[in-house]
Amino acid sequence: MPLDEYRRKRDFTKSPEPAGEPAAATGGETRYFCVQKHLASHLHYDLRLEHDGVLLSWAVPKGPSLDWNDKRLAMQVEDHPIEYGSFEGVIPEGYGAGVVMLWDYGTWTPDTPDVDAALRKGDFKFTLDGFKLKGSWALVRTKGYGDSGKPSWLLIKHKDHWSGPIDITEFAPLSVKTPGADFADILATDTPDLWTRNPPAKTGDTGKLFQRIIAAALALKATHDPNPPAAPAKRRRARGAIR
Ligand code: MN
Repeated sequence: MPLDEYRRKRDFTKSPEPAGEPAAATGGETRYFCVQKHLASHLHYDLRLEHDGVLLSWAVPKGPSLDWNDKRLAMQVEDHPIEYGSFEGVIPEGYGAGVVMLWDYGTWTPDTPDVDAALRKGDFKFTLDGFKLKGSWALVRTKGYGDSGKPSWLLIKHKDHWSGPIDITEFAPLSVKTPGADFADILATDTPDLWTRNPPAKTGDTGKLFQRIIAAALALKATHDPNPPAAPAKRRRARGAIR
């Protein structure tokens, strides 16, 4: 079954992630894609492309780059359910525990009609039309990396109108689902106190990042007014500056 591995890794009584059913193939040329920025044991970006009723998925540790000189490692992971593609929130414990931000989404189009053949060949070219990622891209399979059953690929931006010497993860780090939201904002809408004693990563750079985000989320929650004014002061200043 297409989503067996996805379901085996998760306890849906404890995770807000969707359990999912393989969706009927939508047909047609354009399909959904998304990139979820996922702070778990390590920060990474999950590229997901709709195909045959599921989301084909690659974990990209450094995230995509618009620079055609960059080749970003992309480790293929288990297929995900279609409804996972709009998920943003907190995975409190278990597999993938951490914060998920919907970093980009839109539609994708394969460059050749037979996607399965391109994937088997390990040379998969496609066009993205998202908020941040656009134009021509390739996933190229590499041989013999790592010891897992799933293959490793390189994610490469082709030189076109939408490429440039830009690390888009640095340039545009925030959510497209909750405009302006960073990890701390997403965590603050959920339960940051959950992790004050036992964050998903405790040591190293990821542990330090979690500590900062948990502290920021707790501060955001503490300053949250249950009866906010119609136009917060910050917004009024922002509008004033523009006009
Ligand atoms: Mn992930």
